[in-house]
Formats: sequence, C-alpha cells, structure tokens
Amino acid sequence: MRGAVMHAPGDVRVENLEDPRIERPTDAIIRLSATCVCGSDLWPYRGVDKLEGPTPMGHEYAGVVEEVGSEVTGIKPGQFVVGSFFASDNTCEICRAGYQSSCIHREGPRGAQAEYLRVPLADGTLVATPEVPPADLVPGYLAASDVLGTGWFGAVAAEAGPGKTVAVVGDGAVGLLAVLAAKQLGAERIIAMSRHEPRQKLAREYGATDIVTERGDEGIARIKDLTDGLGAHSVVEAVGTQESMMQAIHSTRPGGHVGYVGVAHEVSLPGMELFFSHVHLHGGPAPVRRFLPELMGLIGERTIDPGKVFDLDLPLQEAAEGYRAMDERRAIKTLLRP
Ligand SMILES: [Zn+2]
Repeated sequence: MRGAVMHAPGDVRVENLEDPRIERPTDAIIRLSATCVCGSDLWPYRGVDKLEGPTPMGHEYAGVVEEVGSEVTGIKPGQFVVGSFFASDNTCEICRAGYQSSCIHREGPRGAQAEYLRVPLADGTLVATPEVPPADLVPGYLAASDVLGTGWFGAVAAEAGPGKTVAVVGDGAVGLLAVLAAKQLGAERIIAMSRHEPRQKLAREYGATDIVTERGDEGIARIKDLTDGLGAHSVVEAVGTQESMMQAIHSTRPGGHVGYVGVAHEVSLPGMELFFSHVHLHGGPAPVRRFLPELMGLIGERTIDPGKVFDLDLPLQEAAEGYRAMDERRAIKTLLRP
C-alpha cells in the first residue's frame, strides 16, 4: 500500500509500505475513506519533537472495515467506522469513567495517512455508522476522529454550557471546533481569539459571537472588557504553548474552568499565579471515544458540519504539500484521499 512517512523535519514522502494485517484477534483492518494531517504532526515536521528514524504518519481515520480478528464481535467487514487516535478496550474502569484515552490498554494506531490501517482493540475503539454514509459526510466523520472530539472535550472540560461565556484560545481546527462545541452545548457567548480572517469567518459560522484579535496581555484585557472585568467562565486552550496556557488561565474568572487540549510543549505553570487565579484546570489527550456516538449522530443527521475545517483536499500522494500548506498556515487542515 501507499503511505506517508516522515524522514526528517520538513521531509514527508509517500512510499510503498507493507500492507497491515491482523496481528491480534482483537484487531481490525480498515480501508481509509479519508485521512488528514493533524496540527500535532507539525511538531515533528518543525523539528520541535524529535523523530526516531522514518516514521509512518497519521492518527486520524474513517473508513470501511476490510477484515476483523477472530475475537471481534461488534464490528463487521463492510461497515463504515470511525475511531480515536488512541485505541481503548472501552471496558476497563478508566474507560467506563469516560477517559478512554488513558485506557489501561491504550495503544496506537499510527500510520493512518495510508491506504489501510490496523486498528487494535477494534470492539472498544471503533464506532460504526448505521449505513455507509454519502461522500459529502466523510470529511465530517473524519473530523470526529480527533479534532472535533478534542475541541468538544476542551469545551466540556471548560464546562461550557447555558449562561456561560466561553473564550477559545487558538484558531486551528481544534479551536474552531471548540467554538462549534460550545455553541452546541448551549453557551450564551463565545469569544474566538484569532487574527486570521478566514478562520474568524469559520469561527462565526460555528457560533462565535465575538472575535478578539489581540494576544498576550492585550488579549486578556480584551476578554476582561467583554466580561465586565471578570474574565470568561470557560476558556478552551487549544495551542499548547506557555503563552497560550497563561492567556487561558488569565482570561478565566475566579471559579471558572480552563479546558486545555493543545498538546503542551515546554509549558510550566507558576505556582503563585495559579494559586491566586482560583481557576479549575482540566484537560489532556481528549477521550474522543466517549463522545463519538453522540458526535457521529449529529454529523449523520447534518446538525453539525465539522468537515468545514478541511480547506485543502488532496490525494494522499500529495501529502508533502498538505504538510507544507499547514506549516505555512495557508491551510487550516488538509484532508488526504488514499
Ligand atoms: Zn480501557
């Protein structure tokens, strides 16, 4: 099969790889309908995360089941399925508490920017649609695999809901979908922090009521201006840098909640500032599996359209250009078609 491999920062090639096969009786093999490049793939692409040799890329997937292992009972060949970037048994105590991305058996799958993918723990990981969906819904389902589930978790962790003012730090796909999530969860006011016009436009489409273009102290001051000097009730942090994390904490009112879903890079929290901020912090790798049934239902009935975050649609063969476009911020998110 063909698949994208990162050899070094800035060097992604689509190559012939061995077809994945069932390795354990709980595995499934799926044929990707679509896959994509994640904002987090840019960390190794930019040399921030170190690569240990050539690495098959991709952890977002939606596709049709080709084959299942002998112990798989809930998933059948021919079904269209979506799963999360962490496989989970969905039965252990941590999974049952809704934290499948910390499942005691969690693992991969990795290498989803390819024609085929082996998904471990298929029964616990994959969620099937009632029927194979029409082509125009595929990008939405693909978004559910990571960015939608992650934005949704950010909003849930920040306790977005009726009567709340929610601010979102970060205008990547996750931040934009956190806006969508806040809207669906009933937030009264949604402030998107973005300096990029096309992203502001999508944020408004997804339910943002206000846009703040300032960053750092000025950004925090703008949020305070918009909230009677108090700060937002709920802030989603969807970047993962020291600056964005502190911006999120300082934009939150005392007693409010920060939902942090940007993968943290060199973030360290100053204890005294945290102590006096009086905010709740909750986040981490999103337990996407918790939300998949609900989100896939909303996509199937066309209540939400998270697929709009894909503003570049390329054949898998052109993955290198997909990375470049996201790195240069010419694209919010690249969809790849095997
Ligand atoms: Zn588990």
